[in-house]
Amino acid sequence: MAEKLAMRRRVVLVPAPAQGHITPMMQLARALHLKGFSITVAQTKFNYLNPSTDLSDFQFVTIPETLPESALNNLGPVRFLIKLAKECYVSFKELLGQLLVNEEEIDCVIYDEFMYFVEPAVKEIKLRSAILSTTSASSFDCRFLMCKLYDKDGLAHLKEGGGREEELVPDLHPIRYKDLPTIFFASAECSVESSVELFKNSCYKGTASSVIINTARCLEMSSLERLQEELEIPVYPIGPLHMAVTAPPTSLLEENVSCIEWLNKQRSSSVIYISLGSMTSMETKEVLEMASGLVSSNQNFLWVIRPGSIRGSEMCEEGLFSKMVTLDRGYVVKWAPQKQVLAHSAVGAFWSHCGWNSTLESLGEGVPMICRPFTTDQMGNARYLECVWRVGIQVEGELERGAVERAVKRLMVDEEGIEMRRRALSLKEKLKASVLAAGSSHNSLNDFINTL
Ligand code: UDP
Repeated sequence: MAEKLAMRRRVVLVPAPAQGHITPMMQLARALHLKGFSITVAQTKFNYLNPSTDLSDFQFVTIPETLPESALNNLGPVRFLIKLAKECYVSFKELLGQLLVNEEEIDCVIYDEFMYFVEPAVKEIKLRSAILSTTSASSFDCRFLMCKLYDKDGLAHLKEGGGREEELVPDLHPIRYKDLPTIFFASAECSVESSVELFKNSCYKGTASSVIINTARCLEMSSLERLQEELEIPVYPIGPLHMAVTAPPTSLLEENVSCIEWLNKQRSSSVIYISLGSMTSMETKEVLEMASGLVSSNQNFLWVIRPGSIRGSEMCEEGLFSKMVTLDRGYVVKWAPQKQVLAHSAVGAFWSHCGWNSTLESLGEGVPMICRPFTTDQMGNARYLECVWRVGIQVEGELERGAVERAVKRLMVDEEGIEMRRRALSLKEKLKASVLAAGSSHNSLNDFINTL
C-alpha cells in the first residue's frame, strides 16, 4: 500500500477562500484522487476548511497570511482578493519550495481563477499549472469582454447615465449590459481600477497549461468555443463536478438536517426552497415583502436565513418567522444540506441568488428556479436560466409582495411551471450523461489528466 501511494503523482490545489469556490475545488480533488493522484490542498487561514475524516486522504497545508477575520467585510470582495494576492505571493512560493523538499515531485498546481498570485510563483519554480474556473464559461467570457471595453473607452457607457442597460451586449447573447457584473464598477467600496485589476488577473492565463471549467458543453457550447479561441490554450469543461463524484463534505457552516425530516412530510413537488448562498444579504424590508408574498402564494417553503444575512434588524432572524408563518407551511434554517434538499422529491422549485454552484445543483436535480440575482456573475447566470435553458423566471426591480406571489405561482401552480419542470428534467438527463463514461465532461477530465 505504502509503495502504491509513493507511486502516486501529486497535484497541489489552491482554492479561493469562499464557500462557492472551496466546494468545486474539493470536488475536483476527489475526482483526481480517484484517478490516482495524491492531493495537497493549500489554503489560506481565512475561511479555513477543517479537514474532516472524509478528507483524510488529502494533505492540507496553510499559505501564511495575516489578514484579520474582518478583512472581507471591511474591504469588500474585490479589494480583499487583491490584498490576499499581494500577501500570499511570496509565502506561497516559499510553501511550494518546502513541499518540494519534503514531498515527491509536484505534477501540477491547479488554482482558482481568483488566486492568480499562484501563476508567477509556479512559473519561477518551473512547475506546470492549470486554472480552475468555478464560475460559468459565460461569466469568464463577460469578464474578458469588460476588460477589453475598459481598454477601449474606460467603460464609459456602463457608468451611470449611460442608458444602455437594457441593450444586448454584442457577441454575448443573451447578456444585456445590466447583466454584466457592473456592481464592481459602480460600487462605493472599490474603484473601477481595482475591479479591472482583479478581472484582468482572473482572466490572465500567463503560462498556465490549460483552463478547467466547472460546466458542461450541453449548457454553454458557444461561450466555450469563444473562450477556446480567445485563450489559445486548451479549455476543459468537466462539470458539473458535484454530479461527477460523490462530494466530500465541504460546508463551512453547520448543516441543519432537520429540514429533511420536515421535507419528508410534504407532498411531492409542493415546496419552494429559498437560499441566497453564502455571502448575499437582504434588507429587512425586502425580507418582509418576500415573506408576505410567500404566505399569500399558499405554497410551502423551506427558507435558509444565514446568520447576519438580513441587514438592518436583529429581530428579523429570531422573531420574524414565528410571526409570519405557522410551522406547517414554512420551515426556516440557518444553513441547509442544499444538495440533499434539491434532490428531495418534495422540492418543486428553488428561489435562488443564482450563484454558479446553486445553479448547477438545481439543474442537476431538474428543479426549476426563481432567479433573484444580486451581484457578480449571478445576473448572467439568471439570464441564461431564463432565456437560454428556459428553466427559470427572473424577478427584477424592487422586490414587492405581489411580484413574489406571482413568480411563485407561475412556477409552482401554472402550466408554465410544469413546462419548465419538464425542460429542467430533460436538462438533468443531459448533464447526467455528460459526466458518465464517454460523456463530454468525463472525456474532458480524462483529456486534461492525460496532459499531466
Ligand atoms: N449551500 C449550502 N447550504 C445552504 C446554502 C448554500 O450547502 O443553506 C451551498 C450550496 O450548495 C452551494 C454553495 O453553498 O454549493 C453556494 O455557492 P454558490 O456558488 O451558489 O453561491 P455563493 O455562496 O458563492 O454566492
